[in-house]
Parts: sequence; C-alpha cells; structure tokens
Amino acid sequence: MKLAMIGFGQAGGKVVDKFVEYDKRHDSNIVRAAVAVNTAKADLMGLEHISEDQRVLIGQSRVKGHGVGADNELGAEVAEEDIDEVQGAIDSIPVHEVDAFLVVAGLGGGTGSGGAPVLSKHLQRIYTEPVYGLGILPGSDEGGIYTLNAARSFQTFVREVDNLLVFDNDAWRKTGESVQGGYDEINEEIVTRFGVLFGAGEIGHGGEVAESVVDSSEIINTLAGGGVSTVGYASETVENESSSNGLLSRITGGNEEESLDTAHTTNRITSLVRKAALGRLTLPCEIEGAERALLVMAGPPKHLNRKGIERGRKWIEEQTGSMEVRGGDYPIRDSNRVASVILLSGVTNVPRIKELQQVAIEAQDNIDDIREESEDNLENLVNDDEDELESLF
Ligand code: GDP
Repeated sequence: MKLAMIGFGQAGGKVVDKFVEYDKRHDSNIVRAAVAVNTAKADLMGLEHISEDQRVLIGQSRVKGHGVGADNELGAEVAEEDIDEVQGAIDSIPVHEVDAFLVVAGLGGGTGSGGAPVLSKHLQRIYTEPVYGLGILPGSDEGGIYTLNAARSFQTFVREVDNLLVFDNDAWRKTGESVQGGYDEINEEIVTRFGVLFGAGEIGHGGEVAESVVDSSEIINTLAGGGVSTVGYASETVENESSSNGLLSRITGGNEEESLDTAHTTNRITSLVRKAALGRLTLPCEIEGAERALLVMAGPPKHLNRKGIERGRKWIEEQTGSMEVRGGDYPIRDSNRVASVILLSGVTNVPRIKELQQVAIEAQDNIDDIREESEDNLENLVNDDEDELESLF
C-alpha cells in the first residue's frame, strides 16, 4: 500500500523519518512521500531521512521557530493559520499514486497534538483518498498536562480521520533506560508493526505469486467504517535455505496433504496468530467486540500456507465475534522470519482510554483550582493587608 506520510510535531517527524529508513532497508515501497511539519526548527533539523525541502516550519510569526511548549490549542491555531504552507509541501506529492494519507503525531505534546487533527480535516476536504491517523499516547508518568493534551487530541483526531491507529507509549516504555534510547527502540517497534501491515498490500519486488496475497483494498476495507484500531505482532526465526528445504518438502510433500512439513508450518502459523492477538497490542484492549480484523502472515513463501492462515482467521473470528475477518500472505523471499500481524479495527472496549480520560479530567480540574488559587495568592502578596497603599497608575 502506497502512503503519503506526514509527521506532525517531534514524535510524528521522528516516526515518519524512521519509516523512510525502514522502507529503504526493506525495499517495501510503502512511503511514496514523506513530509515533516513542526513549529520547532531544531526538531526539523534533527531529522535524517526526510528530504529537507519536505520539512515545513510553521508558526514562525507566533513562536519564532521555538515550538509551542506543549500548548496544543496554540498548536491547532498555528496549524490552521499556516495550512497553506503545509499544503505547499503536499502539492509536490503525486497524490494519484498514493492509496492513502497517514498523519502521525504524539498526542501528549503541543504541535502534533493540536496540528494533526487540523491537517487531517483539511486533507479530508481536499482529497478523496482515505486519511488515516497514527496517534501516540503519552506514558502515564509524563504528567497531567500531557494526559490532558492526549485526551483532548484523541477525541478530535478520531473524528477527523477515516481511522485512528493508536500506539500507547505507556504499554511499551521500558524502565531504566534514557528517554531517548527508549524512544529509539519504541519507534523501531512502531515501524516494524505498521511497516509489515502496510507493506502487505505492496508486493511486487521479487515477483512472488502466493496463494492468497493481501491487497491494499483489504487493508482499506478493514479500516473503513472508522473508529480506533490496534495492531498485534509476533514473529519467529525460520531457516530459509531455499535449496535444501525445497528438496525436503519435495521428498516429504508429494501428494500427501498432511506431510510433517505442512503440519509444522500450519502449527507455527496458528501459534503466531494467537501470540499476536493475545500478546501486547499497540493499544492494549479487549479484542472481543472488534468490528473488523485483518490477518497478515509475512515471511518466505514456503513457510506460509493457506491452511494455517485459514485456521488463524477462523480463530480470530471466534475471539472477536466479528464476521469481517480478512486474511492473507505477504511473501518475502529473502526473510528469515515468519511474522503474524493482526489489525483489529473498530475496537471499543479499551480501558486505557477511559483511564486516560479520567486522569485528564482530574488534571483539568486541578489546573483550574491552582490557577484560581494562585490568582488569590498573588493578590494577597502584592496588596497590603489594610489596603493602605495605592498603585502608581
Ligand atoms: P510536539 O513536538 O509538540 O508535537 O510534541 P512531541 O512530539 O515532542 O511530544 C509529544 C508526545 O509524544 C510526548 O509526550 C511523548 O509521549 C511522545 N514522544 C515524543 N518523542 C517520541 C518518540 O520519538 N517516539 C515515541 N513513540 N513517542 C514520542
């Protein structure tokens, strides 16, 4: 699937930058265009793979290239005011060659949190291609203001996109690591999951013809209908010695349906499907009740089979209760891993979001209280008790 990716804010820019690098490394052809938008000049300069003429600095007259300081209302205003500059970069994208837009942002900050929903709304108005969001939730240790920003942005972002794919930093943070080192690893996890998913609809290199290849239209149909999505992933190393395995399967295969080889392949697939669905999702949630799902099995063609994928697909149907579960292959000849990626779309039972909203409401109330209190306190400090002094003017 060919995407035009726009990274908004620091996290958004870094993740899209990594997608570009991933795309080159895997020759997966998913990033047709990559744009980074920010109010902070330094963040744009730190990017490595997005070309310089596709980095857009907005809000210069308001914040002079220094960022919006986690003020997402200001982030939204600035995006609105300078949308023409962002459009200028998008104008250079051959939109007729892309299947969809993907707007990426960390929801806890200011620029991406406020700007990503504004840009998505704009894109929806101008183009007929679907606009998806990839929203990153802050860790719960980041504090009240980040949680409040994320809760408000989440609500707005979901409304403005065709589907919001969510990644929760809180579920992925690793203790005892520097924030930057931690983010590098987390960003790698993000691009691997979404890279395999979107890469599935974009085979061509190597010319593999598999039994049931996933097409971009299946990804689009799974995401259609809107709402919130999460992705599960599991992988296993396999031997990929084409000649010896080919001989083995020829000897053991023959006409026998259930040769040892086939049974082993099928079992591996079904176990990877369970691991992906029941392990850590990009947004942890109850998978029961998910409206639609897509199973992608990626890896060397001889380690994929229709029976395994069919069993895995049925199992997901049972677990989610959904009647709309699609499934297929993503053959990658040179890989030495078999991976299962499950996209669960239209999830609604997400305790993490409810908890985020609760903490956000508390933070909002606290902020109001503190503001009122500090106004009174300042009044008490500045004015003498008996009101005997008069100000100059
Ligand atoms: P902005 O530049 O004002 O949009 O704000 P940032 O993108 O710097 O930060 C917003 C939120 O994104 C933070 O609260 C973090 O939760 C998250 N974040 C920042 N950098 C990264 C990153 O490199 N990777 C990930 N996964 N999350 C990040």
